Amino acid sequence: MSILAYANQNVWELVAYKPGKPIEETARELGMAPEDIVKLASNENSLGPSPRAQEAMQKAVAGVHIYPDGASFSLRSRLAADYGVSFEQTAVGNGSSELIELLGHAFLKPGTEVVAAEYSFAMYSIVAKLFGAEYVAVPNKPDWTHDLQGMLHAITPQTRLVFITNPTNPVGTMVGQEEVDAFMAAVPEHVTVVFDEAYMEFAAEQVDTAKYVRAGRNVAVLRTFSKAYGLAGVRVGYAITSAEIAGLINKARSPFNVNLIAQVGALAALDDTEHLRRSVEMVNAGRSRYYAAFDALGVEYVPCHTNFILVRVGNGARVYADALARGVITRPMGGYGLPEYIRITIGNESENEKCLAVLRELLPPC
Ligand SMILES: *Cc1c(COP(=O)(O)O)cnc(C)c1O
Repeated sequence: MSILAYANQNVWELVAYKPGKPIEETARELGMAPEDIVKLASNENSLGPSPRAQEAMQKAVAGVHIYPDGASFSLRSRLAADYGVSFEQTAVGNGSSELIELLGHAFLKPGTEVVAAEYSFAMYSIVAKLFGAEYVAVPNKPDWTHDLQGMLHAITPQTRLVFITNPTNPVGTMVGQEEVDAFMAAVPEHVTVVFDEAYMEFAAEQVDTAKYVRAGRNVAVLRTFSKAYGLAGVRVGYAITSAEIAGLINKARSPFNVNLIAQVGALAALDDTEHLRRSVEMVNAGRSRYYAAFDALGVEYVPCHTNFILVRVGNGARVYADALARGVITRPMGGYGLPEYIRITIGNESENEKCLAVLRELLPPC
């Protein structure tokens, strides 16, 4: 009998998270040089990591024979000061993906429910499944934004976590302060509202959700260093939340979940506001470029507040594969229930131009 018969059914039934295709793997398969491949699949920052973060991380390398500070004291103290909360109201994770899983550890088990939007980050449903919780997906509105009123109606006494991704992935839309405030005025106290703000740095409007943490509400604001800060490879994200919820996260995590290089790099990245500004500027310029090119081609896209853009290409799987064969890695969206779309990360100018040149070949004007 297979050992799988003894495994946790929730785990063996899981469909693992499928990340963007790595450059090295693509180069190997296509027989191309890695330098000739453009990866616009995982919403990384094409400007690279901040020079200040690089310098700090290089210095820290000489000290990696010593375990890092398991409490991430310096980084969490800095975040607490920035958000006007106490040290105990912060938690850090191996990317904010880990924090999503740790919230699952803290709140989910069979019989509980998770509410999220129909088009959502894949980790929410994976974590729900992992812990045997019911996953309730609420259809997006016709303008692709979260239907916050619909999400309120989906809450039951069994609901433990509600995920509001703002701006949202994979569509790139956002909900504004007023809608968020109306949602928070009505959400019951037994629910932890998770504001996943992985892309907020790119948004035109900055929605304040940390005020709900300061007001003592059951809210977790998740942010990451993987996108605007350009540190996806070191894996670090954080939560601003109540002391109780942060306490649960800190009990459930492994002792040194954020490594030394990541702690040091993240702290230095927070100081490099100039790099952040340039990163957002690059994305704003690239976004306008894509809009203009898609308008000229007569190709539909979803106007976005993010460093990626959802584009309707017809047969998403085919366009993804044909672009890949030409050295441009995008993200097919069939797995997200959007088979006619691909998602393209907004990169630097030369990456965007290469991507557009390939798409012009694949999508002749209609
Ligand atoms: C990228 C992303 C994250 C977090 O990524 P990490 O690299 O694990 O910090 C979280 N939520 C959404 C919606 C994302 O797109």
